[in-house]
Amino acid sequence: MNNRALRIAHLYPELLNLYGDSGNILVLRRRTEWRNMECDVREVHVGDRPSFADVDIAFIGGGSDREQRIVCDYLLETQQELAAFVEDGGVLLAVCGGYQLLGHSYLMGDEEVRGLSLIDLYTDRGSPRLIGNIVVESHIAQQPIVGYENHGGRTHLGSGVEPLGRVLSGYGNDGFSGREGCLYHNVVGTYIHGPLLPKNPGVADWLIARALERRYGSSELAPLDDAEELAANRTMVNRMLG
Ligand code: GLN
Repeated sequence: MNNRALRIAHLYPELLNLYGDSGNILVLRRRTEWRNMECDVREVHVGDRPSFADVDIAFIGGGSDREQRIVCDYLLETQQELAAFVEDGGVLLAVCGGYQLLGHSYLMGDEEVRGLSLIDLYTDRGSPRLIGNIVVESHIAQQPIVGYENHGGRTHLGSGVEPLGRVLSGYGNDGFSGREGCLYHNVVGTYIHGPLLPKNPGVADWLIARALERRYGSSELAPLDDAEELAANRTMVNRMLG
């Protein structure tokens, strides 16, 4: 082991874990350990009061509206700590329902539910649900980002918020703007399940590198043999883009 280590907080895995989202944690752990760094994953459960003081990477998965609302109520209690973490460059990956929570509000039925206001965005709803495979081009990864989306929400970014990328196939934030997800400081919000990281090692390494840079001042990462991951990525890109 070299003497670098990363600490990951997995928020509410019992509630937010659609379409294998917990697999993202496994990828972050393995890609850290394969580079001889320690990786400590802590799950935050309902009833816990999370602290982000020594966290490097936080992860929030997706879930049904009902589960999302329960999580939002808990996270609102630590909104200030979470906001401080984000503003300090803490790394946060939030998928689908978790992504929607980052904004000012999201629409549940006819009710506008208050979000965490960590990022200038909001989510309303549309019909039909946006379902299917998705391919996105983003400057954080060399290969197109591939995955699966299934959401009723339509997310709208404030003028200063960058999208994660441009939709090459699929729907993304709202089905018409061509924008997918958001990038803000070291936060990635995205509608991409899959889980996201196994077929997109570039995204996983971007998150790990940002976390290392923040903790140790150096984002240098030893290369890994990603032949299988990249073959899986290419298969989906070819299938979707022809
Ligand atoms: N409940 C949200 C929606 O449908 C998020 C769903 C999800 O996380 N897949 O928009």
